[in-house]
Amino acid sequence: MNLNLSKSIKQASVSYREDIAYEVNKEFLDFTGYNYHDIIGKTFRELIELLRADVQIKFNDDQQEYNCYIFTNNDQVKNVKITQKILIKENKREYVIEENMSSLLKGVLSTCGKNSKESTAIISYPELIHLKINENYEMNSALIDMNQDKPLGKKFLYPDYIVDNIKNESSCYKEELEFIDNSGKVTYWTINSVMIFEEGRAKYLRCSFFDETEKVMAKRLIEIQKREMEIVLENIPDSIIKLNNQGEYTYLNKSSLEKLSNYNLGDKPLNIREIYNLFKCNDINGNEVSYHNSPETRVLRGEEIKSFILIGTSHLPTTYHQCTGIPIYDEGGNIESAVLIYKDIEKNLKLEEYNSLVENIKYLDVKYAILSRDFKIKYVNENGFKAIKVSNSNINALVELIGRKFFDFYNVNTEEEMQLIEYIEEAIKNNCSYKHKQRFIEGEKVKYVKSIFQPVFDKNNKVKEINVIGMDITEEEDINKKMSDALISQEEIFINTSHELKTPLNLIFSASQLISIYLKSESIENKKLEIIRNNKIVTQNCYRLIKLVNNILDVSKIEEGFYELNLENRNIISDIENIVESVAKYIENMELNIIFDSSVEEKIMAFDVYKLERVILNLISNAIKFSNLNGIIMVNVIDRDEYIEISVSDNGIGIDKEHCDIIFNKFKQVNKSLNRKVEGTGIGLCLVKSIVELHNGKISVDSNLGMGSTFKIELPITIVDEPLNNQEEYSHNNRVEMIKFELSDIYS
Ligand code: ADP
Repeated sequence: MNLNLSKSIKQASVSYREDIAYEVNKEFLDFTGYNYHDIIGKTFRELIELLRADVQIKFNDDQQEYNCYIFTNNDQVKNVKITQKILIKENKREYVIEENMSSLLKGVLSTCGKNSKESTAIISYPELIHLKINENYEMNSALIDMNQDKPLGKKFLYPDYIVDNIKNESSCYKEELEFIDNSGKVTYWTINSVMIFEEGRAKYLRCSFFDETEKVMAKRLIEIQKREMEIVLENIPDSIIKLNNQGEYTYLNKSSLEKLSNYNLGDKPLNIREIYNLFKCNDINGNEVSYHNSPETRVLRGEEIKSFILIGTSHLPTTYHQCTGIPIYDEGGNIESAVLIYKDIEKNLKLEEYNSLVENIKYLDVKYAILSRDFKIKYVNENGFKAIKVSNSNINALVELIGRKFFDFYNVNTEEEMQLIEYIEEAIKNNCSYKHKQRFIEGEKVKYVKSIFQPVFDKNNKVKEINVIGMDITEEEDINKKMSDALISQEEIFINTSHELKTPLNLIFSASQLISIYLKSESIENKKLEIIRNNKIVTQNCYRLIKLVNNILDVSKIEEGFYELNLENRNIISDIENIVESVAKYIENMELNIIFDSSVEEKIMAFDVYKLERVILNLISNAIKFSNLNGIIMVNVIDRDEYIEISVSDNGIGIDKEHCDIIFNKFKQVNKSLNRKVEGTGIGLCLVKSIVELHNGKISVDSNLGMGSTFKIELPITIVDEPLNNQEEYSHNNRVEMIKFELSDIYS
């Protein structure tokens, strides 16, 4: 059966006569994939070429055999044995092709599969014929110096880099070889040529190459980036450290090494425990940061740290760092290391301080400007701008001032400017500031500004710029003025009171001396009148002293706010009338007339009778003092419904208009030398005005020099709910006593 079958299988053959193929069997055509006309008429050499078999084949003898590779019409390689049969009788030659079934070829060929990334060729050995290539091979081989058109069946032109390996029948693996094509394009390839053995003999070469350009480029890029990163890390001003999970330093960049080298730690610090033992650190709240709560330990515990501020306090100057740290995990999820970055924020803090300073200066309640050495404006703050704008309405925006001459806006004329610059230059020479005060009118107010010109020196002691600070000192000036007025007025008190004290004291002293002389004399009776007269002088001058002291005390009480009214609802008409009557009796020996008149008989209203009496007596006392002989003093009361008007007028020496306002001020006397014929302290009208104002009333004077004066008081008519009756009943005797005090300086 088998025999039959083998017999029935016809061998693929082609027949030749005169070296021309004239017959080919179906098996041959099936095996090679060609058709009848492809074969018929071809010489044997042509047939060999068609089949891309070894061109060296040369047949001489009958039954001669050749083992070789042929390629079918569809590029399949076959390992075949070709046998020549010479049939002399039939005058023909027959070539029989048999496939070598024992060959490894099929298996080897199957390794040349479709792999889009790999360019592969199976090459016979030692013939080095391309037996199979994948689709990338032909195209890509051009890029690696193996350019070959339709390489299948052709010789493998092995490149230099594998030549030795091939000769030695060994495999070779070259990684990332660089190739540059004609256009200058650079590509990288990994070449793998594997020698395959059959029955102990090198039989095939499997040559494959991969385009590694992308990978190499990526690797190169990473390397470049890595190198760049290393450069950055080494040159970055921030300190970067890496610790292993034992807290030991595994990397310290240049900056961190430099920083640590300042502290003489020997070669290199070993671990963070050592560092925290050596240095004291605080957090931003002043709490100590020890090894256990250090950023490093926290990161090694798995915490991510962001912007933690660490303040080094062991050394001077104090260091300020902002720390950021992340833990690094290994594949198993365990903390493998920690990376920490320390940013020195001292400058930032200073910058922040500086910025806030600049911001504060901008809106500072002083005028501030920075001038160049030649007094041109470099900077001016809001307040300075506003001040300049007041007298320079053409300036609209702050920037318009920059670069302009400062003194053009300083309200000085050319001469003053030159003088000022001279002073400032002198101050600069002496390394100090120059202070300048200016007085000017703003609206209707007098204003004072003090400007300080402060030179700022650079490292070389050259004037870099000049700072100008302008301060409104109007308030201080006003206070100073008040103070100096107060001093003058105190001086006046002193002058007035010393005179006023001295005169009655002298009088008392000499009268008492006289009295003692009279008392010692043998005939006291004869001296009685003298004694009485001198005693009267003593009493009179005691009244004067008491009045003076009382007035001074009352004025200071009023100034301190301790002076209170005891308001009662009383008939003001009769009270004033009684005063006038009592005074009239008191001065009946003087050649003066005093007249009282009123529009109403009675007016009940609230007032402090004791204090009002002092007011009226004061005015009458002045009227007497400044009246001429036979003068007339009028006291009038008019009910004006809303208020009671009391006027005290005389036809005495009068007051000139310009002094009418000031006489109500403390210690103001008009023309002292003129007045010295009468006594006085200049305190009476001040007290009168204060008492009237305490009653919510007003006082004014109408006077002409030489024509007499009229003092007018307006007291609002009010009633108190619960009159204060704790005041002792105001009696005639009280009044007489009071008159003695109030008129005490008339009899001097
Ligand atoms: P003095 O104790 O000096 O009288 P006053 O305050 O009572 O102080 O008066 C202040 C000054 O006002 C007097 O010194 C005087 O110059 C002027 N004066 C006050 N009343 C009159 C008046 N009736 N006629 C003229 N001058 C007067």
